[in-house]
Amino acid sequence: MIYNEEFETLPREVLEALQFKRLKQVLERVYHTVGFYKRAFDNAAVSLDDIKTLDDMRRLPFTKKEDLRENYPFGLFAAPMSNIVRLHASSGTTGKPTVVGYTQKDIDTWSRLMARSFVAAGLTKNDIVHNAYGYGLFTGGLGVHYGAERLGASVIPMSGGSTKKQILILQDFGPTAICCTPSYALYLAEQGEEMGVDMKSLKLRVGILGAEPWSDTMKDEIEERLNIRALNIYGLSEIMGPGVAMECKEGRNGLHVFEDHFIVESIDPATGEVVPDGEEGELVFTTLTKEAFPLIRYRTKDMSRLMREPCSCGRSLTRMDRISGRSDDMLIIRGVNVFPSQIESVLLGIEGLEPHYELIVDREDALDTLEIRVEVSENIFSDEVRALQNIEKRISKDIKDYLGVTTKVKLVQPKSLERFEGKAQRVIDKRTL
Ligand code: ADP
Ligand code: ZN
Repeated sequence: MIYNEEFETLPREVLEALQFKRLKQVLERVYHTVGFYKRAFDNAAVSLDDIKTLDDMRRLPFTKKEDLRENYPFGLFAAPMSNIVRLHASSGTTGKPTVVGYTQKDIDTWSRLMARSFVAAGLTKNDIVHNAYGYGLFTGGLGVHYGAERLGASVIPMSGGSTKKQILILQDFGPTAICCTPSYALYLAEQGEEMGVDMKSLKLRVGILGAEPWSDTMKDEIEERLNIRALNIYGLSEIMGPGVAMECKEGRNGLHVFEDHFIVESIDPATGEVVPDGEEGELVFTTLTKEAFPLIRYRTKDMSRLMREPCSCGRSLTRMDRISGRSDDMLIIRGVNVFPSQIESVLLGIEGLEPHYELIVDREDALDTLEIRVEVSENIFSDEVRALQNIEKRISKDIKDYLGVTTKVKLVQPKSLERFEGKAQRVIDKRTL
């Protein structure tokens, strides 16, 4: 099933013609209504008349998170407050939050794109959606909520927290779909098991999970422990919120970007040049239809690859690969670039390790050090010390072999590391640079 058959399956040329038309419109609008863009385009000596094809957009300057900060809170809005019906802010993982606004039309578009995402995951109006994304300034909660209602499904507005109560609701209301971060899905599985609930026999059949990077191995673990299909949803407040891209249940090979509303590019973060399809780069988005807060060539810092081959689901929309990390999350350990999700992949490939870990980066005598703390399962933890040491050695060796970095590994007791209701915080950087 495809929610918006017409727009999700447009032939490439038709889609690109539509994108170009919408791009010209949004450029006109931001140039004349947002002082920041007039200055930015003038400084880069690009006139709107220079943009004659879609590729010409590469001449436009990037917009960065810093630009949003400098114009905090409403400086980049392209609509008067009287037309804005909603404000959200990013969770502010780093520094001041980013504030975003929506007109009624923006909320409608967002709801429809979320409904598209749910349909791509196989949901219908007969589904019950357990929404454990946080409601509030974070976009996850309300984004999912409006989308599920738009589809006609029944939403349970759980929000984050009260994990025991969530498990009761999962048992009693029988939701068929769950929306939350992947780390919280695992936490629910763990807490449920602890309460003696058979988490595999719940009515849940699909998880629509996102808002943080997660590995394929983590996906397998969630699917196994909750007996669901775990599908990936991507978005960011600046561009809209969740529902910018969604993995389809048929292809399961990357997330379809809703390109009739967003143009996606992938660039080399060092040079800003567009990289060829299939190569890893930083994703850059341009919004085509947003009224309140359009963004032109916004650098997300999210690293991924774009894939244009056709997908078995019938959608013609470009796919982005699972995010491998954020360029600002990338750890540089003695010159080697490592993403936490790569470490996660190695850890979860080893029997007896739990998907709960912490990475502690420090500096000793001007050299970076990386310590990995990872939980082991109950039965392994009760083994003799030598057995534990062997596992530590094995992890160190695997990480050295796969990623080329030297690490110190410490196995810790089951359930001793912090758990997260929203986005997991796994890196502790003690270096003072
Ligand atoms: P922030 O975390 O910067 O405060 P948001 O709450 O808007 O802001 O989160 C957006 C970010 O969350 C994205 O830029 C990306 O790094 C991450 N994210 C969202 N969905 C996914 C996903 N499916 N996989 C990996 N990362 C994701
Ligand atoms: Zn598909």
